[in-house]
Amino acid sequence: MNKLDLKKVYNLESPPISECPYCGSQKFYKNVRAGGRTQLYFNSNGKKIYDFYKNIVLFSIGKFVYCANCHKKLFKYRN
Ligand SMILES: [Zn+2]
Repeated sequence: MNKLDLKKVYNLESPPISECPYCGSQKFYKNVRAGGRTQLYFNSNGKKIYDFYKNIVLFSIGKFVYCANCHKKLFKYRN
């Protein structure tokens, strides 16, 4: 298992690990806040057709990248 350094700051393009040292997952996430106005499309029986996220703006919140599987904190990143 790689030793994780949670104080050092990394770019998202060059993360210090390629997989989660706890569970082996290769999917990560960061927390974002979403804002803006958009449309939800639905047909005449009220069934949703699709969501339209084009106009939604994402803002990074927080400083850490987490594992998508076990949700452990993995490394600090720079926006
Ligand atoms: Zn994990």
